[in-house]
Amino acid sequence: MKLTFLGAGDMFSFNQGHNSVLVEFSSTNLVIDFPETNFKALREMGKDLNDIQNVFISHLHEDHINGLQLLGYYCGVHSEIKPNLFVHSTLYDLLWQTLRTGLEHSTFGPKSLSDYFNVQIFDDEFTVEGQTFRAIKTLHVPGMISHGLLCEPHFYYSGDSTLDEDFVVQISSNVKTIFHECHLQNEQLKSHTSLEEIMSLPKEVRDQMVLMHYEDRYTDIMEKNSLEERTGLKIAAAHTEFHFS
Ligand SMILES: [Zn+2]
Ligand SMILES: [Zn+2]
Repeated sequence: MKLTFLGAGDMFSFNQGHNSVLVEFSSTNLVIDFPETNFKALREMGKDLNDIQNVFISHLHEDHINGLQLLGYYCGVHSEIKPNLFVHSTLYDLLWQTLRTGLEHSTFGPKSLSDYFNVQIFDDEFTVEGQTFRAIKTLHVPGMISHGLLCEPHFYYSGDSTLDEDFVVQISSNVKTIFHECHLQNEQLKSHTSLEEIMSLPKEVRDQMVLMHYEDRYTDIMEKNSLEERTGLKIAAAHTEFHFS
């Protein structure tokens, strides 16, 4: 199984794609979140939008879902097969409310989300090519539904989240890598995880971490390298690959 970053940027990133990864299995794939910046990243990897077979949505902020409408239309025109869209049961109605203004009306009459995607509503977990992915409820913005994704024994992917220190320490012994969001800025943002918080974790946990969802400043390779050297932390970037076996 190979995980490749399509983008590692936050909502206000313009020089890099918004945060999303492509997980490739021997015969299928899964994309976690679907920002519009994925189109360019996938093309750069020699892939087309209709190559995407499974999508999971962590939450409904624009930078994580603003490519879904185009993905649905594109696959409808260029593919016989609809991508599977894995949506947590608590998120489904809200996702359709968000997307319906662009997807409901068509020259063939009213359409639903299921006309564009093979919608897979789940409660706790879903499976792709025999691998279980468990949704972990996270605290991102109070009142907002958001989930990370646990793929044991390989990785945990936080999505956008404040730091749940107890959980991260607890699952660190169950997975090889922890992909965690961190804005890498000095000021504390209430809905995200700060560098200071990451640095407060035990060193053995930090060593397993790869940081993502950060501002454009660290697309500058000198800035990124300098921060990695200073902290000993790893920072993801577009096209960074991780292999799991
Ligand atoms: Zn975000
Ligand atoms: Zn968010």
